[in-house]
Amino acid sequence: MEETGLSRDEILSILKNAKSADTSYDRVLSSMCTYPHEIAVLAHTQFIEANMGDPGLFPGTYDLEKKVLKMFGSLLHHNNDPEECGYLTTGGTESNIQAIRSMVNSRRDVKKPNVVMPESAHFSFDKVADLSGIEIRKASLDHFLKVDLGSVRSLIDENTIGIVGIAGTTEFGQIDPIEQLSEIALEKGLFLHVDAAFGGFVLPFMGLDYRYDFEVEGVTSMTIDPHKMGLSTIPSGGLMFRETEYLDDLEIHTPYLSINKQYSLTGTRSGAAVASTYAVMKYLGREGYRQVIDQCMEQTEDIVAGAKALGIEPVIDPVMNIVAFQVPDADNIRKRLLDEFGWHVSITRKPRALRLVIMPHINSSTIELFLNDLEKLI
Ligand code: PLP
Repeated sequence: MEETGLSRDEILSILKNAKSADTSYDRVLSSMCTYPHEIAVLAHTQFIEANMGDPGLFPGTYDLEKKVLKMFGSLLHHNNDPEECGYLTTGGTESNIQAIRSMVNSRRDVKKPNVVMPESAHFSFDKVADLSGIEIRKASLDHFLKVDLGSVRSLIDENTIGIVGIAGTTEFGQIDPIEQLSEIALEKGLFLHVDAAFGGFVLPFMGLDYRYDFEVEGVTSMTIDPHKMGLSTIPSGGLMFRETEYLDDLEIHTPYLSINKQYSLTGTRSGAAVASTYAVMKYLGREGYRQVIDQCMEQTEDIVAGAKALGIEPVIDPVMNIVAFQVPDADNIRKRLLDEFGWHVSITRKPRALRLVIMPHINSSTIELFLNDLEKLI
């Protein structure tokens, strides 16, 4: 670090250069993030100094967080004081880590605990294993890439403390059979965490007949991320428990803050993300999110129809706005799409297919351009 600081103009010029090296989302079909809504950005900038790690200093922001939790509660059929049963995390990873940590803390009687989850679970769960030493058991998937219930049952033993189901898998956007997982959890006395980091802001607005949230009796905790399909700013995640006592299992004594206990994983926590999430959820309402999801689903249907016209089939019929296409030598096609046309797509692991997330920044002309370029490569 230099002795003398730079001028404001010099700094702004460096920042401008850095920003111009970043990728704009226009040709990004690989990300679960997007441009945040303008009202979210505005709210974010107004609360930039608010630290939710010390909420006694920021009662106004803390109140907004409670209101966001109430809105999550209404989206996820949580009718038991939702504002007392969760908090806004930094994203899906923190929520998943904390959900498992709560399970472990409330089952200290189990010396070598394990948690059973689908092979399709996000890699954040591998971080939990690495951090805590807890064993993560991966159940196989069925033909539709949902978790296989027989495999789940076969992995449960006397050291199992919980099960995880995914509502919107990262790679294929598939939804696990949460009701059946709930039956297993209730029968065996296990926790059931539902990772709806992506699906939490999609499924409530699709008008589908899926039961995947707190409406399902055995569901004990959920992850829902406003910074993905919720159009909030980064870092904004959500963690909700069915009962306050599961949140209490995360409590740590905090001697020198305005509060004397804390349950978040991070200490300092963004109040700006709280304000932005409140603002965008209030601004869009269910109607606004329904329009966003309708648009994403329309584009998803269009890209699938266009790909089928080129002889390319999806691995599964998309359930939400994520699609994986079966193409020969997917890794090579992915590389060429980037090198030759600037398209960012990703690859699923099993099977290896071209994965596209149709986020709100994708419009019909993006789809047309992409399909034209894809056609040149196959
Ligand atoms: N869970 C699911 C289903 C996800 O798709 C993701 C990210 O893609 C995560 C958790 C992790 O979220 P984050 O990257 O916000 O920590």
